[in-house]
Amino acid sequence: MLEIYNSLTRFKETFKPLHEGHVGMYVCGPTVYGDAHLGHARPAITFDLLFRYLQYLGYKVRYVRNITDVGHLEHDADEGEDKIAKKARLEQLEPMEVVQFYTNRYHRDMAALNVLPPSIEPHASGHIIEQIAFVQKILDKGYAYVSNGSVYMDVEKYAKDYPYGKLSGRNLNDIVTETRELDGQEEKKHSYDFALWKKAAPEHIMHWPSPWSEGFPGWHMECSTMGTKYLGEQFDIHGGGLDLIFPHHEAEIAQSCAALGHESVHYWMHNNMITIAGKKMGKSYNNFITLEQFFTGNHPLLSKPFGPMVIRFFILQAHYRSTVDFSSEALEAAEKGLQRMQEAYARLQKLQAGKETTVEVAGLRQRCQEAMDDDLNTPFVIAALFDSTRAINTVWDGKGSISEADLKELRDIWKTYAIDILGLRLEAEDGANANAKAFSGAIDLLLGIRLQAKQNKDWATSDKIRNELTALGFQIKDTKDGFEWSI
Ligand code: ZN
Repeated sequence: MLEIYNSLTRFKETFKPLHEGHVGMYVCGPTVYGDAHLGHARPAITFDLLFRYLQYLGYKVRYVRNITDVGHLEHDADEGEDKIAKKARLEQLEPMEVVQFYTNRYHRDMAALNVLPPSIEPHASGHIIEQIAFVQKILDKGYAYVSNGSVYMDVEKYAKDYPYGKLSGRNLNDIVTETRELDGQEEKKHSYDFALWKKAAPEHIMHWPSPWSEGFPGWHMECSTMGTKYLGEQFDIHGGGLDLIFPHHEAEIAQSCAALGHESVHYWMHNNMITIAGKKMGKSYNNFITLEQFFTGNHPLLSKPFGPMVIRFFILQAHYRSTVDFSSEALEAAEKGLQRMQEAYARLQKLQAGKETTVEVAGLRQRCQEAMDDDLNTPFVIAALFDSTRAINTVWDGKGSISEADLKELRDIWKTYAIDILGLRLEAEDGANANAKAFSGAIDLLLGIRLQAKQNKDWATSDKIRNELTALGFQIKDTKDGFEWSI
């Protein structure tokens, strides 16, 4: 049996990939039946950070993040209407229209948060054949049973041979008392058995043929199947939110052990949750804020719009294993912190090197490195970078100096840790606008000089400016009041 690591403390020393130089990483992705919210942003950013850091360390990373588009029922895994099918019924859409629509919007939101796309993004509905084969393996090994066209994991039998509940620290008795009695449970031997395959009810519109019934896979099945399909029967890292440990990840472990005789995952990593004013976020709490609402400010709990980098910075300011409590005030503070970093970053690019270094910059790289190495301690990285803003501002204000070598090193540290690893965009969000403004200002200046040359009958200069701008692709039109230009 493989050990469970729930953190990567002393990352560089303790992390040993299964194949040298390569890392396989699987993260549970979204169920695409609605817009992404703050709860989606946290795992996406946490594992984006890990993805970036592993690549920085020189690993070739295959990062698989799935799209759940079938089998995620309203009550955990086993009962109720399929979430996608329900949305499709309410909106009178084809289920795959719902999937495509929300997948596109998820990608748009992730790009705004500067979350890199995964290497592979498999859909559950595209892997029905593989899931059926995986269920069959579990049946063949005797750890599942067919009941009325559905297939259930025989948890009691499994627990005799393997430690069920090891990840969540539960035992079968705890699980019995936690499991709700729901409709359809008469099909199961025990309330804690979970569905590997469900026979579709007549009104259920998403179904596929299988040896047992026309139906659909249980929600947990997709991750065992797609994780091992793309990363191998054993792979390095499996991530997701803390709320997925039970039942989802326990079920994944059980499925892998039952089918393959061993666990698939070497390191489990879970990000903690985001609460809103101390409460779990959820539609039923009326505190559910989508990322789009953050970006537009269109929600009663928000004092104003918050840019995607403020959200990213806000999340990275906490360690991924701590809870984060959201409030508008906390976001406003994060926004100020980010602005301070953006200002320091802009100044850093413009600083002039002096003869010697009189400000405190030594040891910064080591502080950043050690913090990342200590279980991705992003608050410490941010604190170290903040400390260096003092040095940057001192030189900027002319109250200190920095040598050429130290300036180069400082720029490289900011590029490596703030931009590449934390994934912050520090060019002010209107950086593109500033560029455009400077560009058109320069063209106006040139054409102003040409106008003056024409008035002075300096035809050589005026023709030279017009001809060379035209050759560069500009169209210049003389008007009554001066000139107009376009590209
Ligand atoms: Zn999953």
